[in-house]
Amino acid sequence: MSQLNSALKGEITPEMEQVALAEQVTPEFIRQGIAEGTVVIPCNIKRINSVPVGIGAGLRTKVSASVGLYGNDPDIGLELKKVKAALAAGTDAIMDLSVCGDIDAMRRETLAATPKPVGTLPLYQALAEAAEKYNAPVKMTVEDLFAVIERQAADGVDFLALHCGTTMSVVERARQEGRIDPLVSYGGSHLIGWMIYNQSENPLYEHYDRVLEIARKYDATISLADGMRPGCLADSLDGAQVEELVILGELVRRAREAGVQIMVKGPGHVPLNRIEATVALQKSLCKGAPYFVFGPVVTDIAAGYDHISAAIGGAIAAWAGAEFICYVTAAEHIGLPDADQVHEGVIAARIAAHAADLAKGLKGAEDWDLQLSRARKELDWERQITLAVDPERAGQLRKDRTGESSAACAMCGKYCAMKVVSEYLGTARQSC
Ligand code: SF4
Repeated sequence: MSQLNSALKGEITPEMEQVALAEQVTPEFIRQGIAEGTVVIPCNIKRINSVPVGIGAGLRTKVSASVGLYGNDPDIGLELKKVKAALAAGTDAIMDLSVCGDIDAMRRETLAATPKPVGTLPLYQALAEAAEKYNAPVKMTVEDLFAVIERQAADGVDFLALHCGTTMSVVERARQEGRIDPLVSYGGSHLIGWMIYNQSENPLYEHYDRVLEIARKYDATISLADGMRPGCLADSLDGAQVEELVILGELVRRAREAGVQIMVKGPGHVPLNRIEATVALQKSLCKGAPYFVFGPVVTDIAAGYDHISAAIGGAIAAWAGAEFICYVTAAEHIGLPDADQVHEGVIAARIAAHAADLAKGLKGAEDWDLQLSRARKELDWERQITLAVDPERAGQLRKDRTGESSAACAMCGKYCAMKVVSEYLGTARQSC
């Protein structure tokens, strides 16, 4: 039985118990959140040896890192190194967003290498296979698309990102509104190309019951992707984005009625002053479904530093109620990230997530900061480094910029404020 149906029947599953333990809440809290649709545990019944992760209201904000095969020379080995880098940096989930190469092999290797939830975007593979089979992605058939969704779910994918709400009417509205960047979503743009070429409604919308049937069969969580994700600040919260969100709200309701766990993805580029309203709108229209935010990126000019721009937006979005942050790397809109940029992107997203958890007063969040503050005051470098969000980097910087034997650090040296205060308070340490 699916997590949602178990929750609705009042049953607590082993996965709910594990999530409760990790989150320091009661299993009943998790069960109730799943039953109400405000919490999901993406946990495909085909997965073995994976650690269930809870995403939703009242839980620690989670982060996800994306990898995948792209470009002319896709290399599974290289992408798996990025998976490893993301896991080492503490990501809570991995998305394999491969668009070319041996996508089946990449997905299976990613699932095998990842003890946490794995998500995919099946449309990418269906389009890639159509490009091979018919020499044109737009010739993909509805059956081709659903065969890929079924194949990916049968492999054990925990959450499936699907652009089910990008309908003809939404596309028409976007066209009339004269967006600066009409579309930046890779899946959304190809899907719209398919719809216009075939003069057909979005098959993921038209055959949504089929989507739900597959998701229910494997207890895969649906992540409703937004094709109208604004790609620049000027297009944020426009009519097309809001119309799609209204449709996503309706699809959330249908998924819950079908016993399928669901979350909603969005919103791309959003200025700081519109983030709170964007999250409030999603929460209202999608009945509290977990919000999986891409960034949001808060300025269009941060090329090369979009992981910082996204961390600023991610912190505010999560503070406003989003529960799941999709990382952005420094290479965003420029090129493919390397393993170091993947690591950096995950750390930036984790800082955003934790900052939001502190602001939300999440139980246990401030203990981490308090422990580090105490270690800092005591000039206990070993503990400070262990408690840092990125111990390896903190330790390396200490070694390179100060030297490990110094009691203080190279910034103020013998005038170290921590040391001076400790002396006055009678807890002096050895001089620097
Ligand atoms: S030397 Fe200055 S910067 Fe370094 S730990 Fe002491 S107070 Fe902080």
